[in-house]
Order: sequence, then C-alpha cells, then structure tokens
Amino acid sequence: MAPDDPVAQDTRHVLHPWADLTVLGKQESLIISEANGVEVSDSRGKKYLDAIGGMWCVTVGYGNEELTRAIAAQALKMAYFTPFGDVSSEPAAKLAAMLAELSPGDLNRVQFTTCGSTAVESAVRIAHYYYASQGRPEKHHVLARVNSYHGSTFLAASLSGKAVDRTTFHYESDWVHHLENPVHDPDNAQVSAQERVDALTAGMEAAIARIGAGNIACYVAEPVLASGGVLVPPPGYHEAALEVCRRHDILYISDEVVTGFGRLGHFFASEAKFGIVPDMIVTAKGLTSGYQPLGAVLVSDRVANAIAEAANPEKPVFSNGFTYSGHPVACAAAIANIEIMRREDICGHVREVGPYFIRRLRELRSSPIVAAVRGDHLMACVECHVPGEVGPTARNQAMARRVDAYCEEAGLLVRPYENLCIMSPPLVVTKGGIDRIVDIMAESLARAERDLG
Ligand code: PLP
Repeated sequence: MAPDDPVAQDTRHVLHPWADLTVLGKQESLIISEANGVEVSDSRGKKYLDAIGGMWCVTVGYGNEELTRAIAAQALKMAYFTPFGDVSSEPAAKLAAMLAELSPGDLNRVQFTTCGSTAVESAVRIAHYYYASQGRPEKHHVLARVNSYHGSTFLAASLSGKAVDRTTFHYESDWVHHLENPVHDPDNAQVSAQERVDALTAGMEAAIARIGAGNIACYVAEPVLASGGVLVPPPGYHEAALEVCRRHDILYISDEVVTGFGRLGHFFASEAKFGIVPDMIVTAKGLTSGYQPLGAVLVSDRVANAIAEAANPEKPVFSNGFTYSGHPVACAAAIANIEIMRREDICGHVREVGPYFIRRLRELRSSPIVAAVRGDHLMACVECHVPGEVGPTARNQAMARRVDAYCEEAGLLVRPYENLCIMSPPLVVTKGGIDRIVDIMAESLARAERDLG
C-alpha cells in the first residue's frame, strides 16, 4: 500500500474514538469517501447501504444539495464570530427561535453547544447553577440509568451507565448515581408493563430516599436508550418518572440526542410520544442531519428566568459555553435541515415506514441465532446468540461480529455492539431500502448459523 493511501495514513496515525486498542495500527481502517441518499462508498469504491445513519444522525439523506448550499452560503457570508456575551449570529438567532417553536411547553431558551456530550454537560451545569443560585449548592447529585449513553466528555461519560464502557478511565461516582435500566421487552417479559413501571418507580423513590431529595439536582434520561442496546421502556414509565421528579423538586433532563429530529417520528419525542414536558431537552446529531457538528440544550422559561433573577451582580456571568457554541455554519445547516424536514414531512414518513421496519425486522426472530429484536420506528437492534447462551458472552459477541462482517461483505453497514447489531438508517429510507436491510441481515444470519455446523 502506498504511504499516501488514506487507509495506510489513517491506520498509522489516527486514534479513533472508541477504537479497539488490541488492533490499533494493525487493522486497516475503513475510509468512507462518498455518500449519497442512504448509501456510502469506501475509498476502494465499494458501496454500502448505511443502516447506521452515520451514527444515528442522518435525517434528510447524504448529498442533499439544498442543505449543502446553505452551509456554503453561510461560510461565504460570515463563517465565524464569537458567540460569547451578548454577541450572536443571524443563523444562531433564527435557529433558537425555530427550536423554541418546535419544542414542547415553555422550553423557549436555547443554549447552543458543539455536540451531544457538551449539551448534556451544559444541561447538568444549568441544573447545578439553578439550585446553587437559590442558595442550595448541596443539591447537585445526578440520577442517571444503567445502560444509558450520554457522551464521552468527563461528566457525560460518568453519567453513562454501560458497564462495558467503564474502562481504565476515571469517572465521577460521588455524586452520580445509576438507577435500574428500564427496558421492558414484551416478548420476553415476566411481568406486565404496569408492574414494571411500578417497580422502576419504587427503585427511583428508594434511591432518592437514600441520597436525599435535598441533595439531588436532576435526573437525566434518554426516552429510548440508544447505544445501550435500543432499550424500550414500558408505556407510562416516563410520565411516572417525571411525577417523581416534580414531587421531589428534581429537574428532569430528557436526552433526545438520538430520539429527537424524527427518529421516532417527531421532532421531539418527549411530549409527542411519551407525554412529558421536561425541564430541559438535549439535542444534537439529527439537528443538522450530521452535516455539521452542533448540540443544544432547550431550557424551560421557568429555569432560565429563575437563574437570571438570582444573578449575583458581583459575579453575573453564566460561565459555560464554547468557542464554537452555535457555530453559524452549523446553525445554517440546522435551519436548512428543519426546513427540508418540514416541507418533505420527514417525521410523517418515519411514522409510516418506522412500524414497517420493526415488523420486518421481527421476522428475523425465526433465526435460531437471534435472541431478540428490539426497536421503535427507525432505531432498532438484533440481539445475536449461540442458541442456549444468554447475554453478551464472548461467544455471543463473536456471533454478532460475524453477522456484522457478513452484512458488510454484502454491502450493508450495521453497528456491532456487544452481541447486538444496531440499526438507525437515514430517515429518508424507503420501504424498498428497508427490505434490502432485512434481506441482507437475514442472509447474513443464515450464513453465521451455517458456520455453527
Ligand atoms: N446522548 C446520547 C443519547 C447519545 O447517543 C450520544 C452519542 O451517541 C450523546 C449523548 C453524545 O453525543 P456526541 O457524540 O455528539 O457528543
């Protein structure tokens, strides 16, 4: 391989996010060079249907000219200026107004960030500031959940509750607490949905009693746990959790980095799908369809006004934000993305094809190496196993990797995680595209099963 080949350069020099260190520098990187619609091509020219959606982010599809032109136009007009203090840009101002209109309840104040992790951290810092400015700094503990994923900066990683990700790094554990993972899989459940909600609520109450409500600032929850394995909670769970938070004066932060922007058929799933109006919603990823990095925290007027009213004249600055918070080019991308999504009714499209995706994927349960199929609209996963073996054992993980490799060979990219193949195709995927995903997945499962002998 020539030294200037991108595969060689990357393999030699890049430390990837979430890289497998045992193959660092040994395993060739996959370079994705081009992308159009729901397809991507690698640097060798091989095409794949992208069932990962970039990384849960692609809404309007790749290569969208309108969105790309909006980015170019803003870069030419005014590529960047500081967002600090009272300075802003036209795209940031316009996008904030659009987000306030799209969000539920009184979530009318937007703090822009650079990505999902920085948005999660900012939301928690807002909760800390809110109580500290009322003279209650001890109210700073945070409730998160086992199997959640909230990002990769220090606090976001500490909030994340996937045991497999807790590696040699350091994590905050004194004031971050993890409640039970709320999954309720009706196919395999031993108890009714209501019994599960009651048990989860009782667990939350017990944790609050142990920590002390007077010490807890906020509760952070993904509506459907994404990277933790597409874990769908039972109906009524979020409403019950919000009621507990309200009763104990704990702020509710809904992490919609994945579930927002159409993946569940709504711009925000919190109210439209789960019937709750949280105190803050965190968004990123689909906000720009992945065309630019951007995150945002939508904050209720109640919280935003309270922190403003409690401002200390000697230290009046809300000292949180980033050089690239609400970057004008990224905000221009988000504005174009929202306009396209509205005009083309992408959420309506997801509400139509989403149930079809899940129905077709559920056919795969007839394979003996499929332990479960879970999902909601365009977020789903197939859990693989060696028949009779339960959970993410080494053999079950190897099975999922084998299925993943066969999919890749056949031109389909899915995301392997533990013993799961996770899927979140671009929201513009058609029923034909879904059939292709399921057919390749079925063939790959059959090949992996044959290998068992
Ligand atoms: N929150 C959720 C639910 C996520 O899935 C992710 C990323 O996958 C994040 C937060 C972090 O977002 P980012 O990777 O943009 O920092």
